[in-house]
Amino acid sequence: MSLTTIAIPTKGLEELGLHSTNNLLHYQLSADELVQDTLRLHQGELNNTGALVVKTGEFTGRSPKDKFIVIDEITENSVHWNDFNIPLDEKYFHCIRKKILDHLNVQPELWVRDSYACAEPRYRLNIRVINDNPWSNLFAYNMFLRPEEEELDHFTPDWHILAAPSLKLDPMECGVRQHNAAVISFKHRTILIAGSGYTGEIKKGIFSILNYILPHDKGVLSMHCSANIGRDGDTALFFGLSGTGKTTLSADPDRKLIGDDEHGWTDQGVFNFEGGCYAKCIDLSAEKEPAIFAAIRNGALVENTNFYPGTLEIDYTNKSITENTRVSYPLHYICNAKEPATGGIPENIFFLTCDAYGVLPPVSKLTPAQAMYQFISGYTAKVAGTEAGVTEPKSTFSACFGAPFLPLHPGFYAGMLGEKLKKHNANVWLINTGWTGGSYGTGSRMKLSYTRAMISAALNGQLNQAAFETHPVFGMAMPTSCPGVPSTVLNPRNTWADKEAYDKTAGSLAKQFITNFEKYASGVAPEVLAAAPKI
Ligand code: ATP
Ligand code: MN
Repeated sequence: MSLTTIAIPTKGLEELGLHSTNNLLHYQLSADELVQDTLRLHQGELNNTGALVVKTGEFTGRSPKDKFIVIDEITENSVHWNDFNIPLDEKYFHCIRKKILDHLNVQPELWVRDSYACAEPRYRLNIRVINDNPWSNLFAYNMFLRPEEEELDHFTPDWHILAAPSLKLDPMECGVRQHNAAVISFKHRTILIAGSGYTGEIKKGIFSILNYILPHDKGVLSMHCSANIGRDGDTALFFGLSGTGKTTLSADPDRKLIGDDEHGWTDQGVFNFEGGCYAKCIDLSAEKEPAIFAAIRNGALVENTNFYPGTLEIDYTNKSITENTRVSYPLHYICNAKEPATGGIPENIFFLTCDAYGVLPPVSKLTPAQAMYQFISGYTAKVAGTEAGVTEPKSTFSACFGAPFLPLHPGFYAGMLGEKLKKHNANVWLINTGWTGGSYGTGSRMKLSYTRAMISAALNGQLNQAAFETHPVFGMAMPTSCPGVPSTVLNPRNTWADKEAYDKTAGSLAKQFITNFEKYASGVAPEVLAAAPKI
């Protein structure tokens, strides 16, 4: 498809403050053209399957401490100001915006792309993304929804993203912490990104604003979850913090993928916010994750990986740049993607946790009250960084499984989910994709094939037929058998050689849950409080 017929929206860009006198403006390039531009500028290489491989520079992950929301008449009393929603005075927004525009105006080339978020037309949000490099623009092409060519003549952006990764801010002058920042202004409907080339900032910026607009203004629950749909049209959601398995487990050959990270839930059903996936690449293999592996081809954008020396074959085990190696690709690169990316009211909801303590059962069923308790807690436990000798897991409690992206009070989202669970009677399952047989250091991570089998059994109704036992501390119902999974792994205590150590670790994790929940205790129903673990 030739895009040369598309007129550049010069007027809109002029109004924004972009005077394209110095630079060559590339508007709405195809993925192929963006790949060619990246190669021409020596900013990336093709691997042996034709995917574009780039390095994002200083930042290889999001920088939550440098994400700001402009405090103004819209946000002052509605945003839940906390460590993730850091207020920034409007004067600094104008200062940073001017710096970015000045920077963009002197670049030799700019890439502009019109796209949108939300697969449900009623909630469509038009986004204009402006980049000073072609591969960031390819990321926007892959991750947002792609308007038809005829829609572009009348395209009016609702929001703008201005990204200047190579611009370093003066923190004193700009009111920020250090040289990089991502700034959201609801009043000016603009996301500013300076100093970071990590593409995830682009997608999570839009996610953050939708997490405000949809629940606050439109009565739609926004969720940090993946979603897929079975042959019979049954929808499943997978909530979980980073690294717990949303992307991996939603790519299921027996079900159509709706989306891997961000969704809305209306009275009619669910819809994806995005038009693509952003998958982790670390230790990726064709055997374990065939759908994701096969998506790494022409048009896919791979970030921060290395090749095997002297080849163009990516070494997915190499963590020398970062453990957070990633690939973005359009949703339809997964062979069984749902088009349009919508589904009905969810019948099964999975809360994914990667419990590096090895305490929580690999699959269990939650009562509605337990579900609310787990949702508000938002627990996972990572393996501690890479410091030598540190083997202690580190727990994270992130409300609604997504606190860094939620501008409103967690109670807002939890309340909406609670209503929906009550109304629609969905099954809620807790899945521990983390450790079994001991904590990190002693035990091992649950086999992916077992986790997949547990999820399949839950989805096809087999698990509902199983006998259950109750976890003595956490209270959830653990099946005693599950097709495709050895029964010995289903009760975590059984998998530990040292039962006393299990009880001790379970007790200390329970304490962490209880301490974390104290701040929510006054705002929840008595039955939710009663779903706390018992020490
Ligand atoms: P993000 O929010 O950062 O995108 P995510 O929830 O999508 O995170 P995944 O990208 O699916 O997380 O990451 C899960 C990782 O854990 C993958 O690299 C996967 O291969 C690995 N893994 C190992 N064992 C399991 C298991 N039993 N279940 C799920 N994932 C597992
Ligand atoms: Mn993911």
